[in-house]
Amino acid sequence: MTKIIDQCTTLDNQYNVTNSINLANELIKLEITDTHKLISFDIKDLYVNIPIQETINIAQKRMAKNNDPQKTQQIIKLLKVILEQNYFSFRQQIFQPTQGVAMGSPISGLIAELFLQHFEEIHLKYILDAKKITYYTRYVDDILIIYDSAKINAQDIDTYINSIHSNLKLKITHEEQGSINFLDLTITRNQNKLEIDIYRKPTATDTTINFLSNHPIEHKMAAYRYYIDRMHALPLDESKKRKEWQTIQRIGKNNNVPTQLLKKLNKRMQQKTRPPTDKKANEIWATFTFHSPKIRAVTNIFRNSNIKIAFKTAETTQKIIKPHRQNPTSAYEKSGIYKLTCKTCKKAYVGQTRRNLRARHQEHTRYIKNNDPRSAYALHILNNKHEYGTMEETMTLLKSIDKQTLLLPTEQLYIQTLHGNNELIPEQIPNEPNPLFEPLQIPHL
Ligand SMILES: [Zn+2]
Repeated sequence: MTKIIDQCTTLDNQYNVTNSINLANELIKLEITDTHKLISFDIKDLYVNIPIQETINIAQKRMAKNNDPQKTQQIIKLLKVILEQNYFSFRQQIFQPTQGVAMGSPISGLIAELFLQHFEEIHLKYILDAKKITYYTRYVDDILIIYDSAKINAQDIDTYINSIHSNLKLKITHEEQGSINFLDLTITRNQNKLEIDIYRKPTATDTTINFLSNHPIEHKMAAYRYYIDRMHALPLDESKKRKEWQTIQRIGKNNNVPTQLLKKLNKRMQQKTRPPTDKKANEIWATFTFHSPKIRAVTNIFRNSNIKIAFKTAETTQKIIKPHRQNPTSAYEKSGIYKLTCKTCKKAYVGQTRRNLRARHQEHTRYIKNNDPRSAYALHILNNKHEYGTMEETMTLLKSIDKQTLLLPTEQLYIQTLHGNNELIPEQIPNEPNPLFEPLQIPHL
């Protein structure tokens, strides 16, 4: 769908930059004067502020220009369905905001672009033509502007840009001593030219995958491959390049990467001209889980084939920190085998239910209150004058079961297991143990 809309709306990305390397190479060619100044804007909470209906209207207008009415209508209808699926649940409640596109949805980026490029088209051409602003570029929600301070001041730009749309709030950053940080670049005015350096956020920890950890070497070196590639691709002068190479080696050292290995990688990447990014048509990728380097005994078989190997690791942080989906209340909404414990003698009754546990507990309680020994549990409480309790105090889900045919045999298995552990109320003790269940005894009960 994203692809189709992208094709139909034909966004021209006129004021966009695809990455910092392209931006840097563009910037160093610019001629500036000493009245030129740099500012950047950061769009606040872009995704959550996109007005849905308005953006659909923008998309519709664009599409109508290049497509027949029927196609436009059908695609807009689908787009509406997608964008209105922006509900989410939080603490068992469901919310649906009136604006905003879903974070992480594959279509959100395009929708944001549709919205922003619409306003760039309306407003930017005029300002750029008036030559008050010399340069404008945007990367997603970050904007870089070079303006002529002899013709306009930053305050006016700020006021103007913030008045374009009530959903667009932009935060301005001014240059400091002729320098501004934008994306991963530090851009500095030096007479009538701009100079580029690599910018690392003060919060950057410089932590990469530790070289001593159990990861495939490809993963461990990926960060360094990226750093070294960027170092060569950016138009850095010799001293800045040297400084960056020192930084890369220091980061490597802190993460136990052998310096020799980095030097080898650097040499190899220097010799290699930047490879074309288009993939070979007959390449197939296969993913293997990397438990230890021994996996290469298998993957090396494909070395001279058109099958490319990628690795994933099994022990992820997500696996450790992910909260358990099951919350304590929801067990009572399930059907299956349950246990009811007597508050006085601590012995238990095992039951099965096709409905949820909550409803079944209410029934047992009603039997007891009505002096009706219809279940073995009610009989036990009534005969012995033992104490019964609330659902939370006495009822436990032993096994959730949806398949009806499994209810009875599973119940029997649990009755026998509890009986074997001397945990069952005498009113429920089975006549004869079923030998079929002997090998199945549940150890943790
Ligand atoms: Zn009891």
